[in-house]
Amino acid sequence: MVDKDTTTGVAAESTGVSRREFITGVGGAGFGLVLGGLVVKGFLLPDEVIAIPASDGYLLVDPMKCQGCSTCMMACSLTHHGVQSLSLSRIQVVQDPFESFPNDKAIIQCRQCPYPACVEACPTGAMHVDTETGVRTVDVAKCIGCQECVNACPMDTSRVIWNTEDKHAQKCDLCKDTPYWDEQGGPDGKRACEQVCPTGAISFTKEIPLQSDEGYVVNLRDAGWAKIGYPIDDAGTENPAAATASH
Ligand code: SF4
Ligand code: SF4
Repeated sequence: MVDKDTTTGVAAESTGVSRREFITGVGGAGFGLVLGGLVVKGFLLPDEVIAIPASDGYLLVDPMKCQGCSTCMMACSLTHHGVQSLSLSRIQVVQDPFESFPNDKAIIQCRQCPYPACVEACPTGAMHVDTETGVRTVDVAKCIGCQECVNACPMDTSRVIWNTEDKHAQKCDLCKDTPYWDEQGGPDGKRACEQVCPTGAISFTKEIPLQSDEGYVVNLRDAGWAKIGYPIDDAGTENPAAATASH
């Protein structure tokens, strides 16, 4: 499974609120703007320049470690909604039974894009950048359910989740607002999915990550899986022991 990523560019450091407050109404070439002593970089749209604060943190995932247990999804749903629901989780694990390692699993997490198309697309300011953390998140009270943000996400699988029960958009807030969890979440706290993942497939960084799938060459799933007959070996091909056992 290929995770298309069309979000590149330079993020900015600033305080910030919603899309409208990022719009400076300036046309022309790229620019640097000083706001409140902080340098804010912008990018160019046809008739306006928008400056957007960077997120204070980012989830990192390693699909090669993922065993597809969905514990992260349950944790996300439980901490935010108080129920176990795969569809309410803001992180999604996708499994393709017709693929083999390492393409049989994908972890679909929000990347807190430097230039968040979801924020840009929202007509009401519901999808916004949190002023304290830079996290791209939804003010449910302002959401009119148009799903523009869901469709605007440039990833192959939208990182904005449509809440089919309450009919509003929602997305990963790095656990900043988790009413059913006693721990402090957010970039300076804990992330529920990261905490519960038994294989360490989910981690967190404060640095803007290189958004690339390249560099993974090791099968980190196989050791335990081979023992129970999962049909892959260190090279990511069929496990001879499993093949023998099945005949
Ligand atoms: S669904 Fe809600 S958050 Fe998304 S664009 Fe529409 S109003 Fe904004
Ligand atoms: S960091 Fe929190 S909100 Fe984001 S996917 Fe993980 S559990 Fe869900």
